[in-house]
Amino acid sequence: MYYYSLNEYLKKTFGEKVYKISLDGGMTCPNRDGTLGTRGCIFCSRGGSGEFAADRHLDISAQIEQAKKRIQTKTDCRKFIAYFQPFTNTYAPVSFLRQIFNEAIAPEEIVALSIATRPDCLSGEVLALLDELNQHKPVWVELGLQTVHADTVKYIRRGYPLEVYDDAVERLHKIHVSVITHVILGLPHETKEMMLQSVRYAGERSDGIKLQLLHVLKDTDLLDDYEAGLFRTLTLEEYVDILCDAVEIIPKGTVIHRLTGDGDKKLLVAPLWSGDKKRVLNTINHTFRLRDVRQGKRTYR
Ligand code: SF4
Repeated sequence: MYYYSLNEYLKKTFGEKVYKISLDGGMTCPNRDGTLGTRGCIFCSRGGSGEFAADRHLDISAQIEQAKKRIQTKTDCRKFIAYFQPFTNTYAPVSFLRQIFNEAIAPEEIVALSIATRPDCLSGEVLALLDELNQHKPVWVELGLQTVHADTVKYIRRGYPLEVYDDAVERLHKIHVSVITHVILGLPHETKEMMLQSVRYAGERSDGIKLQLLHVLKDTDLLDDYEAGLFRTLTLEEYVDILCDAVEIIPKGTVIHRLTGDGDKKLLVAPLWSGDKKRVLNTINHTFRLRDVRQGKRTYR
């Protein structure tokens, strides 16, 4: 393998393949409810970047059962990660969070809890809860950093400075909660070097990293700028070149959770090549192979 993948990490840790179940705890986000803003991050879809999560009207146990049934029609998978994906999953009263997170980790086959959130939504009370949960099952917190560059942060309306991320990472590590950082490649007006700076920064501080190509989705303010010609999206070749360089600078022990991103094809406007995941992954693997050949690490086959 050319990098330390999530699959490899899961097999090593849990002894077999583990699937993620996307859950919806019914949250919103301070960037949407008027606390910080109402229009969200500039790229964020109405679904709060969680189009594949379950039906939020069902309780958590029912969401888990439904997802397990769906997954088990395709595989004989026996272990799962409960993944709270859309919106900001620590943005609610702690009593409610305690209830839904405990419900999620109760089944024996749930081996870990993964929570996507913002670093400015991790109060002392929330951290105490995560610490408590982490005594029962491993807890991962996913933070949407996206970039380290202040001008881009302002443009994408992320709504918190870099120091808040640094502080959150430090506090999560103090309670031994794993940190997974999301970085977007291809943000408007960023050079390749700027993207690699963000990857390096996140990779050095995180247990895991999710690399995501910038998707322009329907019903986002980013689409308006795209249609106005204010920026262009990356080509497949550009993306793969940046991605392969990014993977090379990520510390070897940092787990790479994602190399592309799973946008909802119904919402995707650009770049359309990203909808063909097989082609993208083949191109990535081919490029890794070629680089190995050039560096003399293998002969071409
Ligand atoms: S913080 Fe997340 S959920 Fe909130 S607007 Fe930004 S991307 Fe969307």
